[in-house]
Amino acid sequence: MTIAIVIVSVLVGSAIWLWLLMRFDKFEPEPLRLVLLIALGAGLAGFFFAGLNNSIFHAFLGISFLDDAMPLPEALASALFVGINEELVKFSATVLMVFKLREMDEPIDAIIYATAAALGFATFENFAYTLEYGLPSLVIRLITAVPLHLGTAAIWGLGIAKARFIKGGGYFSASWGYLAVAAVIHAAYDFFIFVIPGRYMLASLGLSFAIAVALIVFMLRRLKHLQRQSPFAPGNVCPRCDGINAPDARFCAACGTAIVQEFFIVCETCSVKALKTDRFCAQCGARLPAERTHGYSSDRYVR
Ligand SMILES: [Zn+2]
Ligand SMILES: [Zn+2]
Repeated sequence: MTIAIVIVSVLVGSAIWLWLLMRFDKFEPEPLRLVLLIALGAGLAGFFFAGLNNSIFHAFLGISFLDDAMPLPEALASALFVGINEELVKFSATVLMVFKLREMDEPIDAIIYATAAALGFATFENFAYTLEYGLPSLVIRLITAVPLHLGTAAIWGLGIAKARFIKGGGYFSASWGYLAVAAVIHAAYDFFIFVIPGRYMLASLGLSFAIAVALIVFMLRRLKHLQRQSPFAPGNVCPRCDGINAPDARFCAACGTAIVQEFFIVCETCSVKALKTDRFCAQCGARLPAERTHGYSSDRYVR
């Protein structure tokens, strides 16, 4: 098998996932080159530093990584370390690349950039594993390890969205709870793979596949939810029937479902959406009931 075949196969696999993710970002799509830049930058930085930490930790404990089934205590320690390490490093690299990014102007963008960084990370891992174990391992990773990385990034991506659009900064303090959940899920996934391989390869693959499926269902639902919460949506999108309602509608006119704005408030005077941290409406100047303010203004939502 030539290197060219590996490179093309790995890239095609990642492109399919990227296409799926970006389909959700439909009201104000992020520029593809920016998404690719963050996938490459945060993905490579994460891959390098997380890989370095993993090697140091395993050398320190004298554990051989991924050779055979590990004994239970070693598998537990190793899985916990890898989970915390990889999620924290990916998160930090992503925040460093997006916290000043003006293009991140709707909540779904936080998930798009977080999952792009995770996809970049998983792509580098896929190169390494496919070169060592061949194309069948790539097919398995595309439906297990890649969804794992995307799903955990979608979890801490919610923290990034919250920091940016509700709290006005404080990326780590808004995200540490999400990061902890992501790290524990990642650790559980790795634990099954570290402790059960060999004779029980199918069992460990089944368990990790189940975690991957649950994470992808979660990610797709969050993406859909944040798409409806976009300030660039043509009105208030109903969470149940996708009906478009007036910007200040509190219930869907078609099905009666309550419509809650999680990230934005609507100006009572002119119905333009504003950040919860804006003091004044950027369209009509009316005073808004903001409790805190920060540097981002929602002037971009005025049209
Ligand atoms: Zn409805
Ligand atoms: Zn107004």
